[in-house]
Amino acid sequence: MLPEEVLRQAAAEMLDWHGSGHSVLEMSHRSQEFASIIASAERNLRDLLAIPDNYRVLFLQGGATLQFEMVPLNFLVGCGCADYVHTGIWSGKAIKAAQRLGKVNVVASAEDAKFTYVPPQNEWRLATDAAYVHYVANETIGGVEFHWTPDVELPLVCDMSSNLFSRPIDVSRYGLIYAGAQKNIGPAGLTIVIVREDLLGKAQPAPSLMMDYRTHTRAGSMHNTPPTYAIYVAGLVFDWLKGQGGLVAMAKNNYEKAQLLYDFIDASSFFANPVRKCDRSLMNVFFTLADPALDELFLTGAKERALLQLKGHQLIGGMRASIYNAMPLAGVQALVNYMQEFEAGH
Ligand SMILES: *Cc1c(COP(=O)(O)O)cnc(C)c1O
Repeated sequence: MLPEEVLRQAAAEMLDWHGSGHSVLEMSHRSQEFASIIASAERNLRDLLAIPDNYRVLFLQGGATLQFEMVPLNFLVGCGCADYVHTGIWSGKAIKAAQRLGKVNVVASAEDAKFTYVPPQNEWRLATDAAYVHYVANETIGGVEFHWTPDVELPLVCDMSSNLFSRPIDVSRYGLIYAGAQKNIGPAGLTIVIVREDLLGKAQPAPSLMMDYRTHTRAGSMHNTPPTYAIYVAGLVFDWLKGQGGLVAMAKNNYEKAQLLYDFIDASSFFANPVRKCDRSLMNVFFTLADPALDELFLTGAKERALLQLKGHQLIGGMRASIYNAMPLAGVQALVNYMQEFEAGH
């Protein structure tokens, strides 16, 4: 979901952006107008996350999936190994991608319990010669989230695709953070990378031009044409987030929304969530029905009430309520009301 105010503003500015006589969709990425759009998006992004000056912000393409490869190409190739935490489907894909490029040490895996928890750090077997430690802050499909930041000496690399901007974070604890924009930020096509400057340029041999972070830091994300419209809409979302009270306010809302849904699921004998309570995602609430034969009926009834996109990921089935920043509490309440009604009827 995107904030309705943002969609309305994008619609109002569609034909003529700020009196420029043309649409952002038609703008050259080298124009003064677009330069002001990307500069303002970066400024607001930095303010919201309180990013220290020694970090660079990149607006790239290729999704988090390309970052699964760019990270090892820039930091693992030529080094001993890299540490990865395995908490679900997305970290599994990151591990597979890195294994093609170098040695991966899986420090901990929750596979034994079908990825329903985050292995605590005292159980991790960190390598002594690792180049970095990688983890996925929120497993979007299984609904498992880190509610703590790993405490490691090595550069910490994190996929925050589905929870960046959901709450304040301490960027200085990380070497690199990446996120595809389409979950909790804006339109598909934009990937945000936040990287500590001193980590750049150490790769031996240097990766290809497009895969080298330095190519993009040097060019201010304009080595080639960036995803201009996605950056513009993300910028509108950053304005909206500031107007809502920033990430402290978001964290409070997101906690209340998730709590409402989890409390209902836990009290129900019809719906269930298998994730360890302290590791449950505030963004993606996974749940199952007592009888999976009723799944389709549940989804049809939900759609009639404009409760959309509740079908769980094809890999694990069940249901998934994605309650990102723009989802109001009233939306979650409407879902709970429907679930209550459905449970009573079945
Ligand atoms: C969606 C998602 C990805 C993949 O993102 P793409 O933009 O499709 O490459 C990776 N990691 C997480 C945590 C995700 O939620």
